[in-house]
Formats: sequence, C-alpha cells, structure tokens
Amino acid sequence: MATKITELCIGCGICEAECPNEAIHEGSRIFEIDPERCTECVGFHAEEQCAAVCPVDCCVPDPARVEGEALLLSRARKLHPETAERIVLSAATSRFRKPGAGS
Ligand code: SF4
Ligand code: SF4
Repeated sequence: MATKITELCIGCGICEAECPNEAIHEGSRIFEIDPERCTECVGFHAEEQCAAVCPVDCCVPDPARVEGEALLLSRARKLHPETAERIVLSAATSRFRKPGAGS
C-alpha cells in the first residue's frame, strides 16, 4: 500500500530528499505523498525511507491503498524508464522480501 503522511507532520522536510521517486512535496499544511509515485520504496530500499527518517513517525501505510509488490515494481519501472531494467527485487530492494515480512 502507498505510504501516507499523517497530521502529526511537523514539516521538517527531511523525508523529501530521501524518496527515490520524488513522491513527497510540501503541501499547504503538512508534507504530502503522491500515491501514484509511491512504491513503498520497492525497487530501491528494504524499507520505506520516509518512515525511516521521520522524527515523529508520521509516515504510515495507507490502508485505503493496499498494493502488492508486482504493482509497486511496475510503478517503479514506469517512473524510471531509463533504468527500469536495472530495478530488481531482493531483500535489499523490497520490504516484501525481508525475512519475516508480511504483505
Ligand atoms: S515510502 Fe518510499 S517511495 Fe513512498 S513516499 Fe516514502 S520514500 Fe517515497
Ligand atoms: S520527515 Fe516526517 S515530520 Fe518531517 S516533513 Fe517528512 S513526514 Fe513531516
């Protein structure tokens, strides 16, 4: 599922540069994630980078947008057509493949 930013966001901006898909931008009140650009970091990192750096833990899975690994990989490749062939899945590039990971 796409990640979303909750009302707890303090607007520090740390997460913006960490996103591999440029999915995060400053909104009118809090930072926001474009769900059409969020891959839960699938294709790039073992965990969601925005959530990893957020000092107030306000980057959370959006239960309204449950998405599987295949869809997220496809999205990552479409967002990065120039490097699509090099985007592969492993425990280092997909949270779905970490030991003990659920969906
Ligand atoms: S989970 Fe990853 S892809 Fe999605 S907004 Fe956060 S940093 Fe970007
Ligand atoms: S790191 Fe967290 S608190 Fe800072 S802008 Fe991003 S979502 Fe908001």
